[in-house]
Amino acid sequence: EDTIFWFRRDLRLDDNAGLYRALHGNSKVVPIFIFDSVILNELEDKNDRRVDFIYQSLLQLKSQLEELGSSLLIFYGDPIKLYDRLHAKAVYTNHDFEPYAIKRDDQVKALLMKKNIAFHHFKDHVIFEKDEVIKDDGKPYTIFTPYSKKWKAKLNKFFLKSYPTEKYFNNFKKFKKVNTPSLQDIGFGKSDAYFPPRVISQAIIQNYHKTRDYPAIKGTTRLSVHLRFGTVSIRKLAQIALKKNEVWLNELIWRDFYAMILFHFPHVVNKAFKPAYDQIRWRNNEKEFEKWCDGKTGYPIVDAGMRELNATGFMHNRVRMITASFLVKHLLIDWRWGEAYFARQLLDYDLASNNGGWQWAASSGCDAAPYFRVFNPELQTDKFDADHKYIKQWVPEWGTPKYPAPVVDHKIARERVLETYKKALND
Ligand code: FAD
Repeated sequence: EDTIFWFRRDLRLDDNAGLYRALHGNSKVVPIFIFDSVILNELEDKNDRRVDFIYQSLLQLKSQLEELGSSLLIFYGDPIKLYDRLHAKAVYTNHDFEPYAIKRDDQVKALLMKKNIAFHHFKDHVIFEKDEVIKDDGKPYTIFTPYSKKWKAKLNKFFLKSYPTEKYFNNFKKFKKVNTPSLQDIGFGKSDAYFPPRVISQAIIQNYHKTRDYPAIKGTTRLSVHLRFGTVSIRKLAQIALKKNEVWLNELIWRDFYAMILFHFPHVVNKAFKPAYDQIRWRNNEKEFEKWCDGKTGYPIVDAGMRELNATGFMHNRVRMITASFLVKHLLIDWRWGEAYFARQLLDYDLASNNGGWQWAASSGCDAAPYFRVFNPELQTDKFDADHKYIKQWVPEWGTPKYPAPVVDHKIARERVLETYKKALND
């Protein structure tokens, strides 16, 4: 009987931990991908960029596998029902720590056990997972700096070693021709999104500490979507980071950190990490929320960010911080509204990092901005977009009568949020 390898957020053949283990065994490996109808049914936009990105990545994977005489079987449906029908010797896959995925995998495992099919799963998405980096007292870290110190102290060649899957490529099962469902078959259409190429720019990484904060320039790697869907290996990137730039390595550690936080504190999905912050009396003005979503707040740096997001599915990290802070603090709108909006729009949307970023901006997170820190959009612009290049790119009517007046005065908003937060935290 054959072994199944189930691709999920690891859409590559090279340096893939679970795939290596599957190929290393003594039966032929059938690679599969399941478009999970449970997840897809929740997506409102039928031209969703992520579904398109996954689809394009699968076509690439399939053609690579075809060159090896094999193929990729692509299914659509509820994985539990599919596995109920499937026969195999074993199923191999890589870990996914989102609460839905953990539950689904537990169900799959139980089902397979009943059928006497082994379910093997491996770490692939991060360098350290679960309890691998914990405090001396055995508890998870909640502050980034000591976590990152321990992370670096624990790191050695073993954790960065790549898995030489190519040695065992002849263990893929041979297939003649396998049909692939079209995007339309699974209820979706092509998006008009631009997918950043899978290019690891050594120059960007080398200069990262100097260029990372300026949204008008290409000063960050744009690898987030590839990390999200595993079209690039985190081990490979961490190796480069170690050699080239510790500042960039720290960003990769933030990614591990938030994945670890989500694993240990799954309540963050819909509650503040610090419970007191759930006492905040949000204004939740729907009209103002709409203005924020559409990039029409009258604050050009905020509007530029939101328009970049809406048009491309990407927003620069500095501007993610500014727009998130603006929604939560200037408009006093619940961070969960903003989080959900980003979750719909971001090509690199990742529950752990997005939630971490939003709770950071709202000050409700584990290692967050202090509550009294209210980004001043004008000062942020002076520092990070001094010549207004980024603003002009996304808000061409800025400075003309067509551009809207500010939705709220900065000084008034600042006083209002400080008062509201203080009240909630002292109650
Ligand atoms: P680079 O600056 O080149 O960094 C390299 C990689 O490190 C990134 O690709 C990413 O995987 C990781 N990384 C960098 N910064 C962070 C960070 N602060 N937290 C976690 N990982 C990081 N990142 C996502 O991948 N998905 C999200 O849904 C997401 N939502 C965010 C929401 C908010 C409100 C904020 C403030 C940040 C969010 N981030 C998210 C983090 C960060 O903005 C993006 O990872 C980054 O902008 C991606 O661009 P890049 O690939 O050029 O990153």
